[in-house]
Amino acid sequence: MLEVEDVRVSYGTTRAVQGMGLSVGAGEAVCLIGPNGAGKTSLLAAISGMESAGGSFRFDGEDVSRLSSFQRARRGIVLVPEGRRVFADLTVHENILVGATSVRKRPMRFRPDDAYDIFPALTRLRNRRGGLLSGGEQQMVALARGLLGSPRLLMVDEPSLGLAPAVCKQVYGALEHIAGEVALLIVEQNTNDALRLCERGYVAAGGRIVLSGTSAELADREALVETFLGTRDLGNRAEAIPTTEGLEGSREQEESR
Ligand code: ATP
Repeated sequence: MLEVEDVRVSYGTTRAVQGMGLSVGAGEAVCLIGPNGAGKTSLLAAISGMESAGGSFRFDGEDVSRLSSFQRARRGIVLVPEGRRVFADLTVHENILVGATSVRKRPMRFRPDDAYDIFPALTRLRNRRGGLLSGGEQQMVALARGLLGSPRLLMVDEPSLGLAPAVCKQVYGALEHIAGEVALLIVEQNTNDALRLCERGYVAAGGRIVLSGTSAELADREALVETFLGTRDLGNRAEAIPTTEGLEGSREQEESR
């Protein structure tokens, strides 16, 4: 369904994404994990058309690289951005309806009632202003708004960021419900939840994809994944990590441990 290759994003002299590629099949749930600054958000922005980028972008076999973000949204590529971006002065219900603006003549795959079914906690908050919501409630509104955009591919940037474990569980429960109906590309630093939800994953570091595999494979290679996430201390051998070449080096190091 989605196939991107050799994606490059720069901000001035900062090369945030340096030739990343990944794919997501129809109805598949795939995660992209990696430390701060790995280029994950920039890759999602490039796929959604919000950030100009080099590389190849195909969706359902169509070259979408020259399409605007609005045109990509109308084809069903929907991004739920990091930080939720809920409108503070609109009610929950109004915020959710905003998601439908790109749908136009396409059939609506999710209606407001479906969103309330998936996020029952929002039902009693329907008339509350966005600015008065907790972080978890805002995340649910952001996801519900994404669903109203009738996604065929829903890209979600750090759904668990800043959420208490119980709320995170609720959000991932809803994502599980959505998975299968819609293809998912989840960007996360919360590796465990993301790998549990998704069938496959990619690890990004230093603007590149440095590792990929099934969730079981990535979970099995926990030590290596932690190395790339920067949560495992390799002492004076850590400097080789953020490049593809570093992957080979680190694999050898990991296997010789
Ligand atoms: P995080 O989890 O912290 O969001 P990330 O993996 O999503 O990290 P990006 O946000 O894509 O990474 O950032 C990749 C690199 O690009 C970083 O070095 C970041 O500082 C830089 N960057 C991101 N956005 C901009 C911008 N608008 N202007 C300049 N540099 C940017």
